[in-house]
Amino acid sequence: MPVTRDVPVRCRCGHLRGVAREVGPATANHGYCYCHDCRAYLHWLEREDLHDARGGTAIIQVARARFEVTEGTDQLQCVRLSPKGLHRWYARCCRTPIANTVPALPFVGIARGAFELPGAEDTATFGPRLSAWAGAALGGPPPGAGLTARGLVHVTRLLATWALLGHGHPTPLFDRENRPTVTPVVLSREERQRLREHPRA
Ligand SMILES: [Zn+2]
Ligand SMILES: [Zn+2]
Repeated sequence: MPVTRDVPVRCRCGHLRGVAREVGPATANHGYCYCHDCRAYLHWLEREDLHDARGGTAIIQVARARFEVTEGTDQLQCVRLSPKGLHRWYARCCRTPIANTVPALPFVGIARGAFELPGAEDTATFGPRLSAWAGAALGGPPPGAGLTARGLVHVTRLLATWALLGHGHPTPLFDRENRPTVTPVVLSREERQRLREHPRA
């Protein structure tokens, strides 16, 4: 049987706490996203400390129903960088990014920085690292970036499994009709543009 574990989640100040259940290489996608919007989001949060030297952020995708908030649900806020953008959830107490979602899809991308887990355990816990939008990385794509055929099969199989098994619910983020439980703030086109013009966006 593949090894899985429950990994605690918390914001920087500890008001918001949660858990991702049954996380393991076979049940998670260990992603690194280098896209401009993820960096714009961190600029908006004033949490540039959370992207790496190439502007990448680690996002761990798991089935949405396996993510729970256990304390500080009232701190959970949602922002969208545009009317069609991802629903990006963060803790307002300390502006820690927590999770990214698309309402109708049964998975959640949990910000690696929100996991209480030593960095050395990443590959053992989340599986091999996969890159997205590597072409947008600062200073060029990181070595070895790109989605391999094996990686693509892994991601596709997991997405299909979660959809098939109805793993989108229950979730603290959406009601049964996939309406967000907190009304998202939607940034204006000007605000998004300004964030994307940041020298390290
Ligand atoms: Zn906090
Ligand atoms: Zn991104």
